[in-house]
Amino acid sequence: MLIKFNNFDRQYQAYKKELDRAYEKVMTSGYYILGENVQKFEREFASYCHAEHCVSCGNGMDAIFLALKALGIGTGDKVIVPSNTYIATWIAVSRTGAIPVPVEPNPDTHNIDPKLIQDRIGKRTKAVVPVDLYGQPCDIDSIAEIKGKYPSLKIVIDAAQSNGAKYKGKIVGSLADVTAFSFYPTKNLGAIGDGGCITTNEEEIAKNISMFRNYGTFEKYNSRYIGINSRLDELQAAFLRVKLKHLDEMNKLRSKIAGYYLKNINNKALKLPSVPDFAEPSWHLFVIRSKYRDKIKELLISNHIDSIIHYPIPPHLQMAYDHLNLPAGSLPVAEVLANEVLSLPTDPFLNSEEINYLVDVVNKFKP
Ligand SMILES: *Cc1c(COP(=O)(O)O)cnc(C)c1O
Repeated sequence: MLIKFNNFDRQYQAYKKELDRAYEKVMTSGYYILGENVQKFEREFASYCHAEHCVSCGNGMDAIFLALKALGIGTGDKVIVPSNTYIATWIAVSRTGAIPVPVEPNPDTHNIDPKLIQDRIGKRTKAVVPVDLYGQPCDIDSIAEIKGKYPSLKIVIDAAQSNGAKYKGKIVGSLADVTAFSFYPTKNLGAIGDGGCITTNEEEIAKNISMFRNYGTFEKYNSRYIGINSRLDELQAAFLRVKLKHLDEMNKLRSKIAGYYLKNINNKALKLPSVPDFAEPSWHLFVIRSKYRDKIKELLISNHIDSIIHYPIPPHLQMAYDHLNLPAGSLPVAEVLANEVLSLPTDPFLNSEEINYLVDVVNKFKP
């Protein structure tokens, strides 16, 4: 038995008829950029997220970048980011010219700790970019409370991993000024390539982003800004429209797998994820924590079970961020997590035999 982290082949087989038809329709339409499928997908995704507007773009990092640009963030500004996240969150901030200011996570949820944010706010702090890490919604109400003291502070949620997740019963997508999504193939709503989008309830922001993603164009061959080229293809939009119809059923399957792990993994050598009452995660990842992480990973490898470390090096310790002078030891919670976390597969197309087998192997681990 080989247990794969992502079973793209099975997903394709499950939705093959619809995906193949979508492909053929785009191919024969002869229209490949910013056409009918992109427009329809944007409407359908906005409606799925209970947001007024959705603007698609080339990938998830551009979505965060475009959101920050539309909110007026630029050179010399400061933006609060989690110390424990994928580096794209930080790079999106840096690309605007702003400086990422890291805040440590709550050690239980691994998401940014709202209590630690206020101390890091200074004169030039313009925004916070919390992340719904592993698909677990961040505590957005506690983060938004800070706006009471700093009304001009903007919040952009990096929801790359939380497609379809809920916070206090509300779906992720209209809980902040702007929400940024990724449709990278491994994400819960994955394209057959790159893709991303933002959602917002503010028309002005949506308009700005839809110009900025397309050379700053507000009418054909007439640019208002020095924008970028970051568009979602018609083909990807057509595939995403098919997969969006199946997102809830795929997320339910992930949630079933996570529930099974939570109930049946009972090895004291590791800690299972903790889910706060306010969260219905999308279970993009099921992240366990253990001092013996590397040994557990080896055991899984020898039993042909995929697992991945998200993420092995926190952004502040990567060479790209040498200039921030944040040495080892400066963000200890993120650093410990990088040494102890391990993601188990929650792919919706894993079968019960595979999941049972995985649980047995994990439960047999001895330090
Ligand atoms: C995947 C991801 C991104 C970036 O998305 P891309 O589409 O790969 O650019 C950003 N933030 C987080 C937390 C992610 O997981």
